[in-house]
Amino acid sequence: EKKVVLITGCSSGIGLSLAVRLASDTSKVFKYATMRNLAKKERLLDCVKGLHQDTLEILQMDVTDRQSILTARDKVVEKRVDILCNAGVGLMGPLEVQSLDSMRHVLEVNLLGTIQTMQVFLSGMKAQGQGRILVTGSTGGLHLPFNEVYCASKFAIEGACESLAVLLQHFNILSLIECGPVNSDFLINLQKAELGDSSLQQVDGRTLSLYEKYLQHCSTVFQNAAQDTEDIVFLDAIHSASPAFRYFTNSVMPPLTKLKVTEPDGMEYIKAMSKII
Ligand code: NAD
Repeated sequence: EKKVVLITGCSSGIGLSLAVRLASDTSKVFKYATMRNLAKKERLLDCVKGLHQDTLEILQMDVTDRQSILTARDKVVEKRVDILCNAGVGLMGPLEVQSLDSMRHVLEVNLLGTIQTMQVFLSGMKAQGQGRILVTGSTGGLHLPFNEVYCASKFAIEGACESLAVLLQHFNILSLIECGPVNSDFLINLQKAELGDSSLQQVDGRTLSLYEKYLQHCSTVFQNAAQDTEDIVFLDAIHSASPAFRYFTNSVMPPLTKLKVTEPDGMEYIKAMSKII
């Protein structure tokens, strides 16, 4: 059967790339690319250029605004849809300098926004006995220093999904896609403490020098080892008749994830992560 898919956060990055790929395949029906700010739709339209007559409709949706989610849902004329909860934001810097507002924003978008999007679409999927929810998790997000609140948001969404999955196995609905570093606008859109920022004056020298190292590591990883958005595995999860609950998009992180379970005191895992960064 032809698929109808709705993606959140399509003005850049993984969401945009996936929307372009799906919209360009006219043998399948992809329909709804959503974004918070429709003024940013030109980039997506440029990328699909005329390939998208029946396969793309762009809708406004801010995952932190319940009404906008409901309005977008009501525009799904097919009344059945798979959704990709992809919208997300990052926050980087020593924990001491993060403001309550910026921490709230990350949790608001990554955690509550994702949950709220699932809430709106879930009952329709259950009622129809079909539909799939794919959530963009982050393997990096589970263990990165200087990203504690981002990690907390991704950790929390994992917890919510793991819990929900126990129910949803009866409905075949939910999968998590665990991404490592991906070439997207993530670093551009990220709220980040820059080394010269006055807020960093309150941070001790040792933390600052580790932060500086971390920033270097980060830019090296994004330059050398980040995946292209095309390599992210959402499509397998959409098309599989019985999708796995969790997909990893690269091979670096599964061994670390394993360490968490096999060495529950956490020391091996912390050492392994330190070594990597
Ligand atoms: P990106 O910044 O290019 O894309 C994120 C998109 O989400 C943007 O288009 C942004 O406008 C949108 N967005 C932000 N707040 C929103 C809101 N309230 N409502 C709707 N849309 C909103 O970065 P990306 O890498 O494509 O990120 C997509 C997802 O992948 C995120 O959930 C991110 O946490 C996750 N992820 C990214 C990486 C990476 O290295 N890029 C790694 C692991 C996980």
